[in-house]
Amino acid sequence: AKQAGRNCFRSCEPDHTEQAKQKLEMEQDLRTALKEEQLFLVYQPQVNPDNGMVIGVEALIRWRHPEKGIVPPFRFIPLAEETQLIIPIGNWVLRQACMQAKEWLDAGKPVKMAVNVSNIQFSQDDFIIQVQQALKNTGLPARWLELEITESVAVKQLEWVKNRLHELKALGVSLALDDFGTGFSSLSYLKEFPIDKLKIDRSFIMDICHHRDESVMVKSIIQMAHGLGMRVVAEGVEEATQLAFLAQLRCHLIQGYLFSPPVEASRCTQMITEGFKL
Ligand code: C2E
Ligand code: CA
Ligand code: CA
Ligand code: CA
Repeated sequence: AKQAGRNCFRSCEPDHTEQAKQKLEMEQDLRTALKEEQLFLVYQPQVNPDNGMVIGVEALIRWRHPEKGIVPPFRFIPLAEETQLIIPIGNWVLRQACMQAKEWLDAGKPVKMAVNVSNIQFSQDDFIIQVQQALKNTGLPARWLELEITESVAVKQLEWVKNRLHELKALGVSLALDDFGTGFSSLSYLKEFPIDKLKIDRSFIMDICHHRDESVMVKSIIQMAHGLGMRVVAEGVEEATQLAFLAQLRCHLIQGYLFSPPVEASRCTQMITEGFKL
């Protein structure tokens, strides 16, 4: 395998240079995107399976590239993290999401706004201040903001992470653990961290109706969440059979294409107003 790796390295070298060039270009484009307001947010409803009401939304970033069209986050978030651009981008997302949540609140349609937080952003010295500022500048009461973090924040400096989470809780925001079940040592964190909500990763939900293992795990996660007094959201729910299974287990919230993909604010307003027929 080593031999093959070396061979590949040599023969792929021109490719590497090409890749590096593309990356540099993309980084430049991303700086421009931030300055020229090419980034925007879409929102995906989180639905109460008992009555079809939209209780929360998750804000998800998109990039309207002048030549490439709409670029999904998996194509630029990793680069944004590598170049630290995720810090200004993340702060922009926070402000924008809080602004939208305040708008819905003022319109008499309050929903909890969930915002994804990159580990790099989470680790910045001024992160707490940035959250505080976003709330203050938009006038959004903290209880309508939820920060989604992943288990991977906790790979190092457990104490430090724990303190930071407590500082955030003290602001009054809620905390969700994203992609739950895909990382390691989840259970020890759960008991250590002041987490309000678990988001069961889509990879578990996909197979709940066909594979016994997945259904057993999802059932256990939901029961554990209940036992620990946490809320639980199922991600990536696409089929009515999955919804039925999750509703029966008293999963609090459902997010997925079955109800709606992420949509622009105006369409989301309609869903928040009308809810979903079950
Ligand atoms: P995530 O936080 O796990 O977000 C859920 C992803 O699953 C979203 O992809 C959403 O569109 C997709 N999804 C939702 N329901 C379904 C479904 O029923 N079926 C399928 N196949 N997919 C579904 P998206 O918007 O492309 O985002 C991908 C990832 O990019 C996110 O995963 C998150 O890690 C990251 N991301 C998105 N927005 C932000 C942001 O503002 N800041 C940061 N740091 N990361 C973000
Ligand atoms: Ca998320
Ligand atoms: Ca997720
Ligand atoms: Ca995920």
